[in-house]
Formats: sequence, structure tokens, C-alpha cells
Amino acid sequence: MVEYETIIGLEVHVHLKTESKLFCGCSTEFGAAPNTHACPVCTGMPGILPVVNKKAVEYTIKSALALNCKVASRSIFARKNYFYPDLPKNYQISQYDEPLAQNGYLEIGTDSGRRRVGITRIHLEEDAGKLLHCIGSREIDGSLVDFNRCGVPLLEIVSSPDITSPEEAYTYLTTLKNIIRYLEVSDCDMEKGSLRCDANVSVRLVGKKELGVKAEVKNMNSFRAIQKALEYEVKRQIKALESEERIIQETRLWDEKKERTYPMRSKEEAHDYRYFPEPDLVPLIVEKEWIENIRKTISELPDERRERFIREYKLSEYNAGVLTAEKALANYFEKVVKLYNNPKVVTNWVMVELLGRLNAVNKEVEESPISPGQLAELLKLMEKGTISGKIAKTVFEEMFNSGKNPQVIVEEKKLVQITDEKEIGKIVEEVLKENPDAVEEYGKGKQKAIGHLVGQVMRKTQGKANPQLVNKILKEKLLKK
Ligand code: ZN
Ligand code: MN
Repeated sequence: MVEYETIIGLEVHVHLKTESKLFCGCSTEFGAAPNTHACPVCTGMPGILPVVNKKAVEYTIKSALALNCKVASRSIFARKNYFYPDLPKNYQISQYDEPLAQNGYLEIGTDSGRRRVGITRIHLEEDAGKLLHCIGSREIDGSLVDFNRCGVPLLEIVSSPDITSPEEAYTYLTTLKNIIRYLEVSDCDMEKGSLRCDANVSVRLVGKKELGVKAEVKNMNSFRAIQKALEYEVKRQIKALESEERIIQETRLWDEKKERTYPMRSKEEAHDYRYFPEPDLVPLIVEKEWIENIRKTISELPDERRERFIREYKLSEYNAGVLTAEKALANYFEKVVKLYNNPKVVTNWVMVELLGRLNAVNKEVEESPISPGQLAELLKLMEKGTISGKIAKTVFEEMFNSGKNPQVIVEEKKLVQITDEKEIGKIVEEVLKENPDAVEEYGKGKQKAIGHLVGQVMRKTQGKANPQLVNKILKEKLLKK
């Protein structure tokens, strides 16, 4: 059997979370009314002069350092010329032969261990506007353009062709997103377009030295879609090679509904863009001292934090991975543990109850109606025996819905655990009287019958009886029968 290998390189564009745009003072706010955040600079009126946003440069350097890149002390902005209706200047200010950062890597976890994927370059550029196609609509038969996004700063991160499978591409993207979010320079929300990814993919026979002809795939709106588009593309290219068809270098679009890619245009070459240095901007000079100061602002990144969680809290690799993927979740977990020092119990409650409820209502941990302090209080009530584990789940649900403190809910709903042996004894007697069959079966040696009796006692007490006591008292009374 002939074997092929897959070669993937990813180009990721990320919106930087600055207040204003890259070269003017317009707001970068997402979702504002069309064309309310636009000015002569970002719409390219004659005579305008761009001024670079220092914060955007800082965020780019911060990301570059976290991705182990070498930051250039001098870099150049360049014009990338092309015509498209969402680009009023007819050029995009980008960086070309002298980018802000180069030669880094990102470490990813794969089935065969941890591996580095090279980062060829990271540069800063401006985004284009957005087209809204209403062709055929009754009011507007045509396309509308919104310039709000014009000039929003973009970080472009280009990987080396080091990724060897669609699944690895998924892992690379997730790892990258988590790091960028930890740095708090972007929210990387694909739905809002603040993270976009183009994928270059080719296949070749194992053992061949030269790269196969690549296709660039665009238009994927989730990491899973990227993985699927790449899987489709790999199959398509292998099939073409096997039937001795020629693969042409082109840009293809992913069709989410039909789950296939189709050709959009033949791939443009760099010279098609007639790059030249942006004459309105001076070279970007970055002092060493500034780089070192930015380096100091980088706190613990996801990998380090995961390792620390395993060490410090004795968590499994998997649990530590889930809890540290998002900075906000890891912070939440650590706040609870600080107040209630039982990492194992906290892990369970955060991963099962909290994440379960948050996912069900599509909320982020930042929006959790239960604060870390409130969750810690709940766990303490359980530990003290004020409430049983089962009741704790009821209280949790109520806390999630109302935002009330657990003590308040326990008092209001009279959920305090019954630990009075006399009181439990009375209910046990009742249950024994009402269930002669189960008592008889137990007498004949059927241990399982006790489970039914425990269930009855718990039902009569709405789950409030202390289960250990119920068991103990039941057994004592059954012995005397
Ligand atoms: Zn503007
Ligand atoms: Mn770009």
C-alpha cells in the first residue's frame, strides 16, 4: 500500500483587545451600528496620516514572547495592495519582509508526546471592513459595507508547515487560543470573528523530499470545522494523486452544509500584492528595555499552570488540563480551594456541577451566579454534616438559580440534615411497619432488601436524614426482628 503524509501550516488572525484602532482613534467596539466607528484615517481619505497604536505593538510583543519568538528591534510596515469593496484604501497596512517577530515555537501535546510546532513569524496589521450581502432582497438588492472593522488591529501568527494531521491542527489551535486568552490580549472568539484561521495543506508520498502542491482553505467558523475541512482536503488530494490528476495551487472555500471544499480562485503569489514600505509610517523601533518590561507582565501560562495543579493539588493530568485551559476557570478553582482546602472535592464540584450547569445555560465561568466564596460555604456545610451530599446538590441548584447564599437556602427551605437518632428511629419504625415484605426478605438473607428500606426513609425525610445513621439504625432494628 502506498502511504502519504500530510503537511499543514496555519495562518491565524487574532483581533487585539485594544480600545482604539491600529492607526486612528476610532473605537474597536464589536457590534456597534454600521459605520459609526469610522473616520477619514481608517477609510483612507486623501491626505490622512496613520499613527501607530502603542498598545497594539505591546500586545504583539507580549504574544511573540509567549510564543518563544525573537522580537525585532526594527520592523517595517508595508502596503499590501489589492482591490476589494471592504477595503476603502485599496491597500492594507501590514508587515512584509521585516515583521515584528520571527522564529518561535508552540509546544503541543500529541498522542506520541509533546512536540514543538514552529512559528515562522508574527506581525501586526489592520483588518478590513465587512460586507453584508443582500442580493435579491426587496429593500436593498445589492451588498452593504460596514467600515467599523477597518483598521482594527490584527495579530497574524504564521506556523511552519510542521503540523502532520487535521487532529494536530485542532490541538495547535486550541493550545494557541488558550495562551492568547491567558495573555488577555484577545478574546479569540471565532463567532465574533476575533479569531480567524486559514489553512495550507498538501500531501506527499512518504519519503519524498519536496512538498506537494498546496491548497489554502478558508471560510471555517470553528476549530472543529477547520479539522473537518482539512480531513476532506487530505482525502481529496490523495484521491487526485492516485488518479494521476494534477493538483493546482489554489484557494478553496469550506462549505459547512455540504461538508466539502470548492475552488474560489487560483492562489495569488506575494508579488501580486505589489508590497512596498508604507511611506506614511517610520520604521518601528523597539527598545530592549521595553521588551524586557513586557516580558515581566507575562504571568503563568496554561502549560505551567497545569503542571503546578498536578504537583500542588495532586490532580490527574486530565482534570488539571480542563481546569487550567481557561484562566478564569483556573482562578475560580484556586479561590475555592483557598477557602476550602480539599482540592479533590472542589475539583469534582467545579468540573461536574458548576461546568455542567454553566454549559447547560451557555454561560462562561465569569458569569457564574455562584461565587467561589459561596461554593466554598456550601462545601463547608456539607463537611460539617449540616446538610447531606444529596441535599447539597439541591442547594447548589437553588444557588445557581437565585444567587442566594447556601446558609440562607438551607434555613429557608429547612434542609438541615436530621442527625437526631430518636427522630430517625421513629421514621425507621414506620417504614418497617409499612414494608413487611422487605423485612421478611432481609430476614431470609437478602442483603439487597435494606437498600429499598433506606430509600423509603430518605423519601419520608425528603433526603434530609443522615444516610449513615439511617443505615446503622435500620440494621439494629432489623436484628431485633
Ligand atoms: Zn478611524
Ligand atoms: Mn494577514
